[in-house]
Amino acid sequence: MGLLTEGTPYSWAETKKHADHVRRHGIRQFINQYKKLRERTRDVLYWGDEVEYQLVKFDHRNKRALLTLKTQKVLSELVKREQECPDDHPTTWRPEYADYMVEGTPGQPYGGLMAHFNLVEANMKLRREEIQKTLGPDEVPLSLTVFPRLGCGYFTDPPHDTNPSSGASRSLFFPDEAINSGHPRFKTLTRNIRERRGSKVAINIPIFKDKNTKEPFIEDFSGLVSGDGPQTAALPDHIYMDCMGFGMGLCCLQVTFQACCIEEARLLYDQLSTLCPIFLALSAASPVYRGYLADIDSRWTVIAQSVDDRTPQERGLEPLEPGNYRIHKSRYDSIDSYLSPESQIYNDIELVYDKDLYQEMVDAGVEDALSKHMAHLFIRDPITLFSENVDQDDEEDTNHFENIQSTNWQTMRFKPPPPNSDIGWRVEFRPMDCQLTDFENAAYVVFIVLLTRAILTFKLNFVIPISKVDENMKTAHERDAVRKGKFYFKKDVLTAMSPACACEVYAKCPKPTACKKIMDEYTLMDVNEIINGKGDFVGVLPLMNKYLDSVDIDVETRCTVMQYLQLISKRASGELMTTASWMRQFIEKHPSYKHDSVVSERISYDLLTKCDEVSHGKISEPGLLFLPVHKSGNVPNAVIKTHQYLDSKNQRK
Ligand code: GLU
Ligand code: MG
Repeated sequence: MGLLTEGTPYSWAETKKHADHVRRHGIRQFINQYKKLRERTRDVLYWGDEVEYQLVKFDHRNKRALLTLKTQKVLSELVKREQECPDDHPTTWRPEYADYMVEGTPGQPYGGLMAHFNLVEANMKLRREEIQKTLGPDEVPLSLTVFPRLGCGYFTDPPHDTNPSSGASRSLFFPDEAINSGHPRFKTLTRNIRERRGSKVAINIPIFKDKNTKEPFIEDFSGLVSGDGPQTAALPDHIYMDCMGFGMGLCCLQVTFQACCIEEARLLYDQLSTLCPIFLALSAASPVYRGYLADIDSRWTVIAQSVDDRTPQERGLEPLEPGNYRIHKSRYDSIDSYLSPESQIYNDIELVYDKDLYQEMVDAGVEDALSKHMAHLFIRDPITLFSENVDQDDEEDTNHFENIQSTNWQTMRFKPPPPNSDIGWRVEFRPMDCQLTDFENAAYVVFIVLLTRAILTFKLNFVIPISKVDENMKTAHERDAVRKGKFYFKKDVLTAMSPACACEVYAKCPKPTACKKIMDEYTLMDVNEIINGKGDFVGVLPLMNKYLDSVDIDVETRCTVMQYLQLISKRASGELMTTASWMRQFIEKHPSYKHDSVVSERISYDLLTKCDEVSHGKISEPGLLFLPVHKSGNVPNAVIKTHQYLDSKNQRK
């Protein structure tokens, strides 16, 4: 979840005093790196996935499921191999926001070989097994986006009381003990976000109105604190949550790519940005919050609201004093501008940016769009700062830069190469909810990686006005957005630069006609049309198939990849449900569900038991998944294979 700096965290008041210092030096550090690395080329494709897991404990006797606060113990065991053999560990483990979460990535990045697609799922399986070994008999790691009863009563093991009058979050529902206790960053972020905003964060998610849901739905929180009861910012007909943990305590699936050069990184950043809402909808896996069925299916807005540290002035609630900005979005939100020169005409939303920092970058020779992007990220204050870290060598360090860059959690992240490393320009694809099984997570990851190959090979162009991508983000949250939502999408994704072979997938209209107006370039489509194609629109998947036809790929890998593409295709067409729809259906059919939107302890236990069984392939759920036919052997073999492939092509770093 970003930069982990060692040291003693400053209070918010002290951090605020250093905000300009961090911004100024952060941008200098960026400029220095940019100058050194701007011309860096000929890097090769490396990529890797990140899966976040929740540690769940089943109390079978009482039919309860809890989140077990074992992250510190689990992580200390998981990182042993990496510490002992820094150059030879199949998995890498990192802490996440909560003390019931861990984040796992492959130990080495994957490379450009098609055969690497065959290793992803086995590595994910290995990760799950590695965590499992550190847990007790009734405990499991679940790649679950949201724990259904997060914030309901004693939802952790061991149980903890909340403390609404002191501590980091002051939450009515989420105890500070559930926040990662291994590093001060997490509690400091929580406290500073609240203090900077001037109040607790207020997350309001529309409740799913079932036939017996209270009308209006208004909760009584008076029992949660003594005296007159709490003042809350709860809205009627909404599920109210009041701290960072409700957002950053959720899990996701991310993919990072190393591009061959800055131009390619910019291009992938722009192109993939337009796919973020589509993949948020396709991966939707989070329909329940704080024990209630919600009227949304995916997590994004929950996290956006959970880290919204904007002051009332920045949110437009109070008149703006000189020197402050009106800021339109949370630090966690969709991107606000494209980076490639060709995409600039599609930047149609107001970009709030620090004019001085922008000028400094432009004067130093940083390209215009990138300068604006960075100056936009740097309107934010640093929200943590460690006293040992204030003075840095701007030629060598990038800590101040990373401080602000890594607390802008946007749908895509543009990542400059770290100093003194052999890592190149990278982009990170961040919107997806986590899936329950390794098969699904591998499928989504491989799909995105292959899509980047098709984009680059066929010179595809998905860019539409960025305001439309924002509208698509809203649509993507809606219940069953995959089947019901309409998304703005480019009508012709081939360009004048696309090679002839790419045009063959079009039965007619081999080349797009030049459009006169931007608004003629896009139209509303559903996810099925976008992915599988329909009528004049060729579809993303047929283009990827065409790409696969043009590359050298062994039979086993092709078989694996085809099943991944098939899963996405079937989810897009609605033939298979999203995880969110599947969970919703499970809850609605549960014998004890009263059609009042309440997801009780027992329903949550049964749902999570089912999730565990699905995760381990113990049962098949034909509406959600088809059972993959392939299996690439047991984990040790798969790991050996990973290393052999990476070694043989000298791809390891
Ligand atoms: N857990 C966060 C999410 O679901 C992401 C945190 C991170 O950036 O690693 O989006
Ligand atoms: Mg993470």
